[in-house]
Amino acid sequence: MLIDGSGRAGKGVAYSTTEPAHLLNVRAEGMSALAGERDHFARRFEAEGGDRRGFAQRRLFGRYLSELLEDAVESGRTRVEHASAVGAVRADGHWSIALDNGRTVEADALALAIGNQEPGSLRAFADAGKRYVANPWGDDARAAVEDLAANGGDALLVGTGLTMVDLVLSLDAAGFRGSILALSRRGQAPRAHADYDAAPVEADQVPHGRVRNIWRWLRRRSTEVGWRAAVDSLRPHTHGLWQSLDDGEQQRFLRHARPWWDVHRHRIAPEVAATVARMVGEGRLQIMAGRVVSAAENADGLEVELRRRGAAQAERRTFAYAINCTGPLHNIEHTRDPLLRSLLDEGKAKPDQLAMGLDVDAASRAGERLWALGPLTKGRYWEIIAVPDIREQAAAVADDIARELEG
Ligand SMILES: Cc1cc2nc3c(=O)[nH]c(=O)nc-3n(C[C@H](O)[C@H](O)[C@H](O)COP(=O)(O)OP(=O)(O)OC[C@H]3O[C@@H](n4cnc5c(N)ncnc54)[C@H](O)[C@@H]3O)c2cc1C
Repeated sequence: MLIDGSGRAGKGVAYSTTEPAHLLNVRAEGMSALAGERDHFARRFEAEGGDRRGFAQRRLFGRYLSELLEDAVESGRTRVEHASAVGAVRADGHWSIALDNGRTVEADALALAIGNQEPGSLRAFADAGKRYVANPWGDDARAAVEDLAANGGDALLVGTGLTMVDLVLSLDAAGFRGSILALSRRGQAPRAHADYDAAPVEADQVPHGRVRNIWRWLRRRSTEVGWRAAVDSLRPHTHGLWQSLDDGEQQRFLRHARPWWDVHRHRIAPEVAATVARMVGEGRLQIMAGRVVSAAENADGLEVELRRRGAAQAERRTFAYAINCTGPLHNIEHTRDPLLRSLLDEGKAKPDQLAMGLDVDAASRAGERLWALGPLTKGRYWEIIAVPDIREQAAAVADDIARELEG
């Protein structure tokens, strides 16, 4: 049984967008949902006139996922319960999962595939009122985009990663003609995909164990083969590299290297990059390194005090809206998801070493007959947020559950 009360079962946050400008950030040929059939999505995309080396609209990929789920339901192997899970109790060798519709579901195995948690709260916006949108993936963000397009004003996007890019595209597509300020500590925005000659490496050619050594290797390799080839050559080895770092080194990576890693590794489609560049060129989008000091609502909008990186003085600007684009929740201990809360509070699962997600073993088990998938398992694998990684994990977890229940 699949439990999902969001009304977007199968598509999740990423692929339930209806905005045509939102493109996949992985080429169609890399986006099969099925581990054993690498071409599965590419073939369907080509049949509809797409290019397997191109970047499909995310809503088309959402349709593909919905069709897979429909097939599974029609086959009689899957049932969808349209409700949210609000708690899980383990007793007598079974899981009892409480739903927000009052029902309880009994299960022999429980797999958590609940995706990214909403971004953490931003202290500077504690008193910002309703002009501050805390969840960039929810209805409030969509309403803010519509309001900005209809009534103007400037927009502040806090964070300059992929979520910022999504919001910029939505604003542009909605006809927003005001100015957007996108702000983050380092002001680094995602780079664009481009063709390159692959330069694969074996795991033993890359230094393990120390961030500094990996980083030096990456820099040298980038000058030899280009940064895209160098970064992508690490893809098959990222789980091993991450696991070779001790807790202190992993923290060092998150603090110092992550902002650069993220923008070079999680690249955007060239056409998306062109839109972003056009908006920068037209003066409609400014990407700035800096931080928000405080924010307060007044009669004109949201007055924000911000400080550019390196500037002695803070500056004040007024925005119609500020939207939190800082990305998924960094610390699982702050989760508000009632299901996760109940599992953590009851000690049925525990945070990983950096509290990015749950502590899981090599089979992605988070506890007794409890599995976790995707972003929840970042602590163990680091690179486990995109479809090419998650589909392999999903297949392995499905096999492990089958073995466990049959054994
Ligand atoms: C905006 C965005 C764009 C992305 N673009 C790409 C891309 O182009 N290519 C790529 O490879 N990766 C992309 N990713 C990354 C990746 O594909 C997603 O993170 C991936 O969809 C995660 O899959 P998931 O099934 O773990 O979680 P999700 O797809 O987020 O699905 C989780 C589902 O569980 C539901 N849920 C949560 N809690 C409960 C509960 N307590 N009870 C019931 N249901 C619950 C949620 O409502 C949601 O529907 C993107 C991610 C985002 C956020």
